[in-house]
Amino acid sequence: MQHVLSKVLRGAPEECWPYQGKVGSAGYPLMRFEGKQWLLHRLVYLKYRGPLLDGMVIMHVCENKLCLNPTHLRQDTQSSNITQACTTGVWRSGTTKIERHERVAVLELLRQGKSRKEVCKLFNVSNSTLSRLVSQAKEAVGNV
Ligand SMILES: [Zn+2]
Repeated sequence: MQHVLSKVLRGAPEECWPYQGKVGSAGYPLMRFEGKQWLLHRLVYLKYRGPLLDGMVIMHVCENKLCLNPTHLRQDTQSSNITQACTTGVWRSGTTKIERHERVAVLELLRQGKSRKEVCKLFNVSNSTLSRLVSQAKEAVGNV
């Protein structure tokens, strides 16, 4: 696992440590590890902070998707990640290339009783984009 941080520009503990390697479609660094594609920040968390708990997501306290400073990563519930993403605008409009856990989050919001109109507004996407996300999300959930 030494190579996990090999492409990371390490700085002071309080600084962001940007990744210099391959970045996935959603803007998060990706790495192949034990035959599986990982979001690198999840791998870094697992290695330096602790186990990944069921139903929890690893979020960037610093909002920098490229940052792999373990102290900038926080494990939290999906819903507070959604709240933060909505507040900070990390989820950009129009994109359908979002991570599986984010697609699941869209579905989760709908399941929690949010109307499609509300969810569209939250993510600043059109109704047709949302429909596409929902079908992708259902697919993703089916594949868990
Ligand atoms: Zn950071």
